[in-house]
Amino acid sequence: MYHANKRVLVTGGAGFLGSHLCERLLESGAEVICVDNFFTGTRRNVEHLIGHKRFELVRHDVCFPLFVEVDEIYNLACPASPIHYQHDPVQTTKTSVHGAINMLGLAKRVRAKIFQASTSEVYGDPSVHPQPEEYWGNVNPIGPRSCYDEGKRCAETLFFDYNRQHKVRIKVARIFNTYGPRMHPNDGRVVSNFIVQALQNQDISVYGAGEQTRSFCYVDDLVSGFMKLMATGDDVIGPINLGNPGEFTIRQLAELVIELTGSRSRIVEFPLPQDDPKQRRPVIEKAKAQLGWEPKVHLREGLGKTIAYFDQLLKENDRSPAVAASE
Ligand code: NAD
Ligand code: UDP
Ligand code: UDP
Repeated sequence: MYHANKRVLVTGGAGFLGSHLCERLLESGAEVICVDNFFTGTRRNVEHLIGHKRFELVRHDVCFPLFVEVDEIYNLACPASPIHYQHDPVQTTKTSVHGAINMLGLAKRVRAKIFQASTSEVYGDPSVHPQPEEYWGNVNPIGPRSCYDEGKRCAETLFFDYNRQHKVRIKVARIFNTYGPRMHPNDGRVVSNFIVQALQNQDISVYGAGEQTRSFCYVDDLVSGFMKLMATGDDVIGPINLGNPGEFTIRQLAELVIELTGSRSRIVEFPLPQDDPKQRRPVIEKAKAQLGWEPKVHLREGLGKTIAYFDQLLKENDRSPAVAASE
């Protein structure tokens, strides 16, 4: 059958990043097949896209083979927050590894370009700072974060081997901490935790002394980077860092969230989780040079939009069932 539009598969499409990507792909005129097993993603994240004539939602686990005909694949399926990926660590590794094999097998069969959502976690607790793509990382292979870190590292290996061995056209992005609307409110990630706590005037849970650093990228910037990477020629395969090089301590983040929400919350210290990386900031020179990409949204601005989203969400959840039912 002849297809006028580009057909794009997004695995993990009902998750935080995936739902934004599906939206942007539809805006660009693509046909989108969103595949998700709803482990951490929800139908609600893509509710507004259901009924769109170029959008299709499929419940499927990427650990099992999938046969569809597409031109491009974005492989995002994988729980991303420590609470979620440590909930069933064996399943996390299976999703990264079996999922990569199946999606690469699919890409090979239909000759599709394939994008992998890799992560800054491949650098582990980095001994090189900031992190360039050439750095091989400092990863504990047997700790509580290993199911995610090693799963993603093995997926990268598979991508590069399918490229060398089978000439599959790959695009590997190493994503640094990203935030924005549709983050899961209970997944324990720092931005969503702090905002939800601040909006409810609860204590802000800083782990350790809050001196560890992270670099936070707003979701719209990140998704632009995904699409620019996918649009490159076959010589650009990555790995390529995508993130915002602005670096903040966790305590600074807590203070900024308190300021922007006008909250009465206090900052309270809790024990630091095992293997928690002390610092993280991307070198994005490759992305600038090869994609002409760099983030545009400042943390203050992005947090403002994210706070507005969570404020609305909490108000909806607060409504009594009687009121909600009568609407
Ligand atoms: P998310 O948990 O919101 O989304 C992941 C999606 O994958 C969910 O919808 C989930 O239901 C789905 N999924 C999980 N296992 C699956 C399976 N076996 N089969 C099909 N679907 C499955 O997380 P996110 O933040 O949107 O992350 C998306 C991708 O980006 C992940 O691969 C993650 O590792 C990567 N990433 C995210 C960040 C970040 O800061 N958000 C940073 C680095 C990498
Ligand atoms: N696969 C898939 N969809 C396809 C083609 C392949 O899910 O359209 C799966 C297939 O089931 C296999 C995996 O991808 O388990 C790897 O495929 P490949 O062709 O590389 O390996 P092989 O089938 O030879 O094991
Ligand atoms: N963190 C924190 N309080 C929280 C949640 C997280 O201080 O309520 C810290 C966490 O220890 C880590 C940083 O914030 O140093 C980022 O955590 P997140 O889970 O968001 O991402 P990752 O550790 O995967 O970068």
